[in-house]
Amino acid sequence: MLCDFGASNKVSSMRTLLRLKLLMSEVRWTMWQNRSSSNSSIRSLESNTSILKHLISKITATGPISVAEYMREALTNPVAGYYVKNDMLGAGGDFITSPEISQIFGELLGVWCVSEWMAAGKSCTFQLVELGPGRGSLASDILRVFSQLKAVLGETDISVHLVEVSPKLSQFQAECLTGDKMQTCNDDQLAYRSGTTRTGLPIYWYRRIEDVPRGFSVFLAHEFFDALPIHKFQRTEKGWREVMVDIDPESPEKLRFVVSHSPTLASGILIQNDDRRQHVEVCPEGGVIVQKLANRIAEDGGAALIVDYGHDGTKTDTFRGFKGHQLHNVLEAPGMADLTADVDFSYLRKMTGNEVTCLGPVTQRSFLKNMGIDSRLQVLLRNCHDPSTRAQLIHSYDMLINPEKMGLRFQFFSVLNRGRLAQYRGMQKNTAPVAGFAELDMQ
Ligand code: SAH
Repeated sequence: MLCDFGASNKVSSMRTLLRLKLLMSEVRWTMWQNRSSSNSSIRSLESNTSILKHLISKITATGPISVAEYMREALTNPVAGYYVKNDMLGAGGDFITSPEISQIFGELLGVWCVSEWMAAGKSCTFQLVELGPGRGSLASDILRVFSQLKAVLGETDISVHLVEVSPKLSQFQAECLTGDKMQTCNDDQLAYRSGTTRTGLPIYWYRRIEDVPRGFSVFLAHEFFDALPIHKFQRTEKGWREVMVDIDPESPEKLRFVVSHSPTLASGILIQNDDRRQHVEVCPEGGVIVQKLANRIAEDGGAALIVDYGHDGTKTDTFRGFKGHQLHNVLEAPGMADLTADVDFSYLRKMTGNEVTCLGPVTQRSFLKNMGIDSRLQVLLRNCHDPSTRAQLIHSYDMLINPEKMGLRFQFFSVLNRGRLAQYRGMQKNTAPVAGFAELDMQ
């Protein structure tokens, strides 16, 4: 359902960009908080061997398991999975993410959400849906932008929907986003938690994307797809074979990789015939999720912004573990370390189908520069006189956009309703007037 906003849902590029420019200048860019402080870690200190024991008895009973099954158990086992019981983010955790590094990151993404809502015709209802919200920092920065842009958003019926598998992290998110105004939902409801944000919006938590209500939505996924289970395949003389996880015969308390002798169901259906690589990783769960987002965007309107480290179908072995900000052997201490694989954006693009338009991937550096990160930094610096906070601002800006740091490693990829760019058919996609994906004239 669209509000009566001018005659058409297709707002012209100039109008949209001018509105965005206006809207960005309206935001009061206040210093919000220093993200560098160490987190109150609730990390479990006791040695965790329960997942390893569980996997060893499973492999003993039924044979080697796929890397996807290994990754799923290690990360999201409902009792002892890494994401289920840890707060892994921040200085005291295992890795740090852009929203935790600087408030500017979330603020610029907040502006992107509003600009896409405007460009799509200012729907009367607007669902902000975040997949894997971590500690809630990104959503919190975005909601602050929404409150500052109240005049632009008007009477729009805005709601917030978080898809989070971790009960522990959902508590952090609830605390961060609602203070104490939240409640647990009954078993018969799709949301397992709900409440009201500090800014007065209804907010809900779900375990799966399909439980989120239908309606115009902007979906955000920051470092979410890289946490989804991958299958690994090796090219051999006999054709593609799946890489599996087995017990190490030399040391029965340890795991090792083996290459399956015969084809598996996954090697039969997940490999493209024309793939020229020697080793391939495929994330079918990511494919299914992006397909669901694409179907919703095609039918209900909206957009998705997927941000992650990744490649466009070129990389091979990217499966890694992180613990305490250090690389960690992926097969050691499952459940105690983060496991991750680069996102294959070419695969995500293929899985979205023909009913939506995809943009990107573009680097984090160019996306944030296109969104005006330089002028935002200047405004914050102008309003800040504390030398250490100023140094921190400059340091975090550098972390985000320096090509040697996160600037080139992280990629932005968007899925849009086809109507969004219908009037620009024939124009090159990298010049399409979508904030972040094209240079905005900020003069
Ligand atoms: N977006 C945050 C957190 C990234 S960590 C940030 O950038 O700071 C990955 C997040 O995805 C965590 O919140 C984790 O609990 C969640 N997650 C991982 N696998 C998931 C799954 N299968 N379904 C829902 N959430 C998942």
